[in-house]
Amino acid sequence: MKKHKQKTGFFSHKIVGNLMIYLLVLTVTISGGAFAISRIVSATESEQEVTQVEASDNQESSQASAIEETPPVIERPIETDPYSDIKERLRNNDTQSLKVVFLTFDDGPSTHTPEVLDLLATYNIKATFFTNLHDSDDLAAYYQRIVAEGHTLANHTSSHDYDLYTNSSALMADIQSLRDYQMQLTGTELPKIFRFPGGSLNANETCIQAVVNAGYNYVDWNVSSGDGSSTVPEIPVIESNIINGCRQYDVSVVLCHAEIKDNTRAALPTIIETLLAEGYTFLPMEADYTYPRQLEI
Ligand SMILES: [Zn+2]
Repeated sequence: MKKHKQKTGFFSHKIVGNLMIYLLVLTVTISGGAFAISRIVSATESEQEVTQVEASDNQESSQASAIEETPPVIERPIETDPYSDIKERLRNNDTQSLKVVFLTFDDGPSTHTPEVLDLLATYNIKATFFTNLHDSDDLAAYYQRIVAEGHTLANHTSSHDYDLYTNSSALMADIQSLRDYQMQLTGTELPKIFRFPGGSLNANETCIQAVVNAGYNYVDWNVSSGDGSSTVPEIPVIESNIINGCRQYDVSVVLCHAEIKDNTRAALPTIIETLLAEGYTFLPMEADYTYPRQLEI
């Protein structure tokens, strides 16, 4: 038993001794390792700092050389159409409470077309011109100005002759000759938007079908200035005809002849100012909108 005790005691001492050596080695290893790690971290941090400083130096020097070698880049604002949402709704015929007005000027151009264009430019609004073919050097420039200033140049036949309704082939040839003339003058592909002389009620189904077959969107109106009659209304009457008319519709197509009727031209500022103040938007016509028609086929 005694021997066994001694053996046990010796064995215990040996274990404790070994354990202490092991702990000592472990402590040295850990502290040494920690020291080594702290050196590595600190070295890495310093290297990062150096790299950052160098990068910063490089950036400054590259910026400096860029200024010396190339002119400064002028940042241009991205041009966005402020009316793109309204136009999308027009394309989808989603027009409830849209408050859009299409001013349309028929039978021009005339020597008064520049006055109308100047007026539209003053208010920064766009309109649609249903012209005929007036082949003169003076008027040729106005077809070009209409397009150049962002308005829609549309087709109202070359001759405005009601006899065309007796022969749909003659009607289409008359329409095509105006289109050729307009596109030659303006050098641009024009939208196929058409208004029958006197409106579609004045035409007939054969002629309307021919126009539709040729790819035209034909357009009448739902608001009239009243200036199409032989007795032109007084200025305040034209104003109220158009203003009150537009208040009735989500989308108004206004028929007037401002290029050839003095009273209509004189009425335009009050009409435009009043409707702008009431939140209406004046837009140029596009071929893929839905418009009012008196005779639908
Ligand atoms: Zn007309």
